[in-house]
Amino acid sequence: MTLPNVILSQSKLRILYTFSSGLSSPEASTAPLRPGYTALIINVYNIFTMAGQTPSYRKLGLSELSDKVQAAEEMLRSCRLCGHRCGVDRTAGEAGICDTADVPVVASYGPHVGEEAPLVGTGGSGTIFLGNCNLKCIFCQNADISQEGGGSPMPTARLSGIMLGLQEMGCHNLNLVSPTHQMPMILMALFEAASRGLGLPVVYNTGGYDSLEALKILDGVVDIYMPDMKFSSSTASGMLCGAKDYWDVNRKAVKEMHRQVGDLKLDRTGIALRGLLVRHLVLPGGMSGTDGVLRFISSEISKDTYLNIMDQYRPCHKAEGRPPLNRAITADEYKQALDLAAKYGLRRLA
Ligand code: SF4
Repeated sequence: MTLPNVILSQSKLRILYTFSSGLSSPEASTAPLRPGYTALIINVYNIFTMAGQTPSYRKLGLSELSDKVQAAEEMLRSCRLCGHRCGVDRTAGEAGICDTADVPVVASYGPHVGEEAPLVGTGGSGTIFLGNCNLKCIFCQNADISQEGGGSPMPTARLSGIMLGLQEMGCHNLNLVSPTHQMPMILMALFEAASRGLGLPVVYNTGGYDSLEALKILDGVVDIYMPDMKFSSSTASGMLCGAKDYWDVNRKAVKEMHRQVGDLKLDRTGIALRGLLVRHLVLPGGMSGTDGVLRFISSEISKDTYLNIMDQYRPCHKAEGRPPLNRAITADEYKQALDLAAKYGLRRLA
């Protein structure tokens, strides 16, 4: 049979089955493993073995989590979830720059093994790609999802079911990709899923243009923040993602994230438990302002920041006709970025 969790070996599963089924050892050692019961054993096992690593939102308790859901939903009435601060009433059907109403929009989900190693482990990162985005990057590699309406609206109950399904599949965490503009609906779904036994830590995988008000609500909910730091120049951010004040908003946001969760901590197997993980995509021709970004992380956040300096830029979406964005970065451009990290004493590179 196919087990929904690759962490648990057949022999360990058999021991737990014997222990929990009420059958005697000889009976249990030969009885066929029933899939539904097996999934239940695995869930209990995971929750039991993660007892010392309880995710933050479970420590909060459902009452406090419910208060946070209400506070977040209130923000939708005059939306200021991100730096655009559109002020529209999304509960009344008004649309801001992210073009998203007040129901969750999901493009896809599943265990993902392409993320940073501390998120992936053996069971994968339980990734949910949210539809639409508050940023309009002209080089976005997921523009079909983020800017062209590729997601499906769904009730929060369905989203909470997806969260629980990812847990049953044995994922190590719940990895919410582009959550900023959907934070209140995600919190509602998280509340529902937590009531039904969700115990995975939340990874907030954001473009980094989150408002401080929104992040304060997430204090005590999110364990792992994974923001982009895309640009350190307002000229570049205004031209390339439609947010001239990206650097101002982004610096404040990352500082607040680090205040909440600190540097990234791993368990003894190398899986991320809690903390900050920053991504910086090196763009051609110095458009990403790598020097400013890395200097800021080193001097204002921490030299122990877990940092992924990404080299995989390829021209996508509207970047084809926009030199220098119409080419990949050179080996020399990437080396310069790594040299800057060394110069600023950043020592935890992915
Ligand atoms: S999330 Fe941002 S872009 Fe969307 S409506 Fe709110 S403030 Fe505007």
